[in-house]
Amino acid sequence: MGESTQVIAIDGPVAAGKTTVGRELARRLGLNYLDTGVMYRAITWLALRRKVSIADEAGLGQLAQESTIRLVGQDSSTVLVSGERVGPELWEPKVVRNVSRVARVPEVRRALVEQQRALAAEGRMVMVGRDIGTVVLPDADLKLFITASAEVRARRRWQELRDQGQDPDFDQVLEETRERDRIDSQRADSPLIPAEDAVLVETDDLSAEQVTDLIIQQVREQVQKQTQLNSGSGQN
Ligand code: C5P
Repeated sequence: MGESTQVIAIDGPVAAGKTTVGRELARRLGLNYLDTGVMYRAITWLALRRKVSIADEAGLGQLAQESTIRLVGQDSSTVLVSGERVGPELWEPKVVRNVSRVARVPEVRRALVEQQRALAAEGRMVMVGRDIGTVVLPDADLKLFITASAEVRARRRWQELRDQGQDPDFDQVLEETRERDRIDSQRADSPLIPAEDAVLVETDDLSAEQVTDLIIQQVREQVQKQTQLNSGSGQN
């Protein structure tokens, strides 16, 4: 990878494959990886544990302001939030059901976006979320918006839950997927929309590996373009 592509923003709806692709991309390109969804999940988990009502916007905002989230390891699957180590709990149904409601509170977003920008300040990062290209890192070197139909995404999610030994109902998973999409896309603050300069990647008919290959191709093209631009302006 060329010097110029240091920060990659990946956005998209629930279960579009952002996490798998983001992790693999970071591994192949030697970049750090941050899945911002875990930060919203961590605040949701903390609110449920501390019995802060999900309807109490001021209480949620304060909780997010007070809580520094530290990542444990490189893969954004475990965090330290207010001194407690939390991992698989972040993907439990009660967190999943409430996280989009917590994430639409502007004060929560403000606190977490500040932490996300601080983590990206040194560059060399693949950051995954809903508003990375539009709000968190508008100057990212490459922006990707990864998507797939709700049915395909729900099917992937359903399979994932089965692989974890659960017995999920497909219609319920589909309904939850649509509900989270609806809240994420329609919220007033930082709704889920592609940045104007994002590359759209449709993954309905592609495996995670094919998507990663496609994106690596995009990164190469982008680096080539940048190199041509630089040599055109006499900076080769
Ligand atoms: O990506 P993941 O499913 O882990 O995200 C959980 C929830 O966190 C999303 O449904 C969304 O409501 C919220 N989120 C967000 N902005 C981000 C990342 C996640 O609002 N940058």
